[in-house]
Amino acid sequence: MSYVSAPAEGRPLPVPTELSAPHWDGAREGRLMVQQCPVCEAYVFIPRRACPQCLAEPLEWVESSGKGTIYSYTIIHRPPHPAFEPPFCAAIIALEEGWHMLSNVVGTDPATIAVGQAVAVEFLDCGEVTLPVFRRVN
Ligand SMILES: [Zn+2]
Repeated sequence: MSYVSAPAEGRPLPVPTELSAPHWDGAREGRLMVQQCPVCEAYVFIPRRACPQCLAEPLEWVESSGKGTIYSYTIIHRPPHPAFEPPFCAAIIALEEGWHMLSNVVGTDPATIAVGQAVAVEFLDCGEVTLPVFRRVN
């Protein structure tokens, strides 16, 4: 039982684009990067060209603390691809700055995961890309 704390051979991975590259470059450096609107200060994730709140552009890239809580989650027992080892947890993380991202909660028995638990980002080196994932903190 790995609980997705190690990259699996053949795992399908995100493909960085010109727009999302700063997010992935940051992850490779151990920094969780998110866009922020310079006008209304809204955090924007997933990466966009313009602010969805006020339409300002360009957006700025800032570093998140990587600290948050589990907003919602599901435990996957039938993986979408053979390279994923079930069971594992896909979760929406509420970052302390007030934005959300979909990720995995790693390193813990999925049966013990609950909404509201505190988590912190860590980075999973998968070769071509480094994935931000979250681990419970107490
Ligand atoms: Zn804005």
